[in-house]
Amino acid sequence: MTYNARLVELLKRKQIVDHRVLHVVEQTPRYRFLDSALVEKSFDQTALPIGFGQTISQPYISALMMQTLLQHQVQDSVLEIGTGSGYQTAMMAKLFTRVATIERIKALQISARRRLKQQDIHNVQFKYGDGWQGWEAKGAYDGIVVTASVPEVPEILLKQLKLGGCLLIPVGETHQELACVVRHKHRYETKMLETVRFAPLVRGDLD
Ligand code: SAH
Repeated sequence: MTYNARLVELLKRKQIVDHRVLHVVEQTPRYRFLDSALVEKSFDQTALPIGFGQTISQPYISALMMQTLLQHQVQDSVLEIGTGSGYQTAMMAKLFTRVATIERIKALQISARRRLKQQDIHNVQFKYGDGWQGWEAKGAYDGIVVTASVPEVPEILLKQLKLGGCLLIPVGETHQELACVVRHKHRYETKMLETVRFAPLVRGDLD
């Protein structure tokens, strides 16, 4: 069995059942988003370093985020805050019509952009900047995914959701949970999905 097929089996056991998610995981080798010295480790189910003190997400959490977006009928436009290696960006680009992604570390943004181009993925718009404010100029999104943690859900991101849209964001300081916030006509509905551990979303000056 290939590594990616093994990973799919593992994800199935952890309640990732959406065949579209399992398919993109299978089609997107994680080692292509890591430094060559880490290729062997790309098979581990853990976060791994990508430089600048940042990590590539654990495959299960990326899969859970994508499955949750699909469960909320997200299809068209998704905003990702925290491009990192581009691993989740690449998978989302295969699931959704358009992906916009923001990264505050220039070097990471450059290598993620290069990897996606090499993999023939062209429906992603990259932005170098601070994602705390979202990316309003691109309009409202069906889904917003934040791959770094915040003490509380930022109001400004909720406003960039379309009606029925869904924000996925790790919330909390010492104890973090992945929150799913859905925008309804007169209110927001929040569900906590899973305990997670992400590095904090950094505010302010760029490196
Ligand atoms: N899904 C990514 C995870 C990257 S880790 C992957 O699988 O590779 C989170 C990323 O968020 C880091 O690259 C970090 O630099 C970035 N980040 C942190 N604060 C940010 C901010 N305010 N705006 C944009 N990106 C931010």
